[in-house]
Amino acid sequence: MPADKPPDVKFETTHAWREEHVENLVICCSDHRYQAHIDEFVRKGLKCDDFDRLALPGGPHFLLAASYLPKFEWAGRRWLRFLVQHHDIERIICIAHEDCGWYRNLAIGPVTIPLLKNRQMGDLQKITAALKDMFPDIRVHLYYARPNPKGHVEFSEVA
Ligand SMILES: [Zn+2]
Repeated sequence: MPADKPPDVKFETTHAWREEHVENLVICCSDHRYQAHIDEFVRKGLKCDDFDRLALPGGPHFLLAASYLPKFEWAGRRWLRFLVQHHDIERIICIAHEDCGWYRNLAIGPVTIPLLKNRQMGDLQKITAALKDMFPDIRVHLYYARPNPKGHVEFSEVA
């Protein structure tokens, strides 16, 4: 062990430490099944090596929760405003995913993936409007992720 390393260090990353300005914020669901795929998509698919991330159940759905979960929306908007203002965020990337447990949990009555997707797609449009209302100059990009038959995850842009 090198002399400059304290004896209690358990691990050291290979990824380079960066201090530069970050212009992208990813808002996504915290579902463990998608985390590695989201990292790969943002880094390789969007060529965005550095980004802030707000990961919580349902991802950006918190922006629409005022009527039934007002504290969630309040806290989420506060975190969002902090990140955008203090980190000079220029682009927000919202990622929804197939069979989201948060949406499943909110649903009343029988749930199917097409029904959930339909609701998520409608919500993504409302989320864009909410983000544009909060931050008129920011660019918002929407994506929907789902596993494919090859056992990987594919990301589609939502217009
Ligand atoms: Zn989810």
